[in-house]
Amino acid sequence: MAYGVCPNCGCSVRYRVSSRQRVSWLNRLAAELGRGEPAVVLCYGCWKHPEVGDDVEVLDPPPVGEVIRRRARGIVTAVDYLEGNTLYQVEGRSGDAWQCRMQRWQIKVLTGGPVGTVCLYLGPDGT
Ligand SMILES: [Zn+2]
Repeated sequence: MAYGVCPNCGCSVRYRVSSRQRVSWLNRLAAELGRGEPAVVLCYGCWKHPEVGDDVEVLDPPPVGEVIRRRARGIVTAVDYLEGNTLYQVEGRSGDAWQCRMQRWQIKVLTGGPVGTVCLYLGPDGT
């Protein structure tokens, strides 16, 4: 088991990497990942694609004045696909009257998520 820090938001991540393959270098890699190294995975909230109704936290506010602060809480009210980009319409929570379109890297999902250790399995394609 490995403990690391999400490279996107900085929260702690607990994960385990394993391999059941007959490929020795893959098994060694799985055993060594996370030992004294930064996390190789994002936390659930930074990994999951936000959906309408998800609670989110603003990680990197857009430059629209001082209205939206870092770590502000919001809710996703729409997901738009424009010219190959996915944009999330987010409205403020807790009496904050703001709304803004944001990109994925600017927000972290707070809704749901696994409890406990996230397990990753390494293996070649098609297995
Ligand atoms: Zn994260």
